[in-house]
Amino acid sequence: MPPQSDSSFIGVELSGSKLRAAVVNNDGVVGERREAQLQADGLVGQVARLVGELRETATNVAAVGIAIPGLVNRQTDRVIASRDLPGIVHENLHAELMAATGLRFELENDANAAAYGEFKIGAGRGSRDLFYITIGEGIGGAIIIDGKLWTGASGFAGEVGHITIDTDGSECECGNTGCLETVASAPNIVRRANERLYRDSTSSLSRLAMNKNFTADDMAREAKEGDDFSSMMIERTGKYIGTGVASIINLLNIERIVMGGGVMQAGDLILKPIIQEAKRRAFQPCFEATQIVLAALGADAATIGAAMLARDAAIT
Ligand SMILES: [Zn+2]
Repeated sequence: MPPQSDSSFIGVELSGSKLRAAVVNNDGVVGERREAQLQADGLVGQVARLVGELRETATNVAAVGIAIPGLVNRQTDRVIASRDLPGIVHENLHAELMAATGLRFELENDANAAAYGEFKIGAGRGSRDLFYITIGEGIGGAIIIDGKLWTGASGFAGEVGHITIDTDGSECECGNTGCLETVASAPNIVRRANERLYRDSTSSLSRLAMNKNFTADDMAREAKEGDDFSSMMIERTGKYIGTGVASIINLLNIERIVMGGGVMQAGDLILKPIIQEAKRRAFQPCFEATQIVLAALGADAATIGAAMLARDAAIT
């Protein structure tokens, strides 16, 4: 049965350690939420339990969307690869989820789902084409062309984290050297800051030097409070990201670039150097046609996007 205007949807976001789920209405507004620690075994049962709890209060749940940290083939609904949850790759996850809940499920990569959420009801609203970049523990990306996710020949399109930024840079998990992710993901921002604190005695004046286990979030907070060292490190990170963004702009002449993920919580402190560097490096007519903006949905992007994918798949 096609969804009605009073239908609701459930968006689920899987990460390596957590399961988050929420009821999302037809307009993308989040209602009831549930969250659970992800147990190693019995993923289908855990998802079905959260979905069941949400259905106790939600009316007319028409379908479920699930954002997966891995590569998903939307044609076959199979998870092809997942670094964080290798156990989900060989299971027939899609059929088992539907059998366990009696609901239709849409599976999608988490960055793609977040991009779709931003496109439909977040910072991408009103654009026809967008590139979404998420910068957190890793760096992911997704491309929406003419209102649809464009995933490439084998589903990997948008892997902006593995654009080479420094040909002499350090080794990346992917086997290449000098990828954007090796300098700009949250753990790598912290690594660079620690290396610099160790090397450069003047930076020990930074409040960061007093906190051995600081995170990228701590650096953003210190920068906002006026810590020069943290500000400088975030600005440099923005320049690296802006270098990658310039390549995207030149390649796609894309209307809008939406920047999300935990590292972007630094707001204008990181967005400004990204835009400046992209402007400096990109082909000018391309740059002028592109808006570079902060994401609007925060940590809900993938959950909302997954629910909206479930909604739109049910219509077509
Ligand atoms: Zn790489």
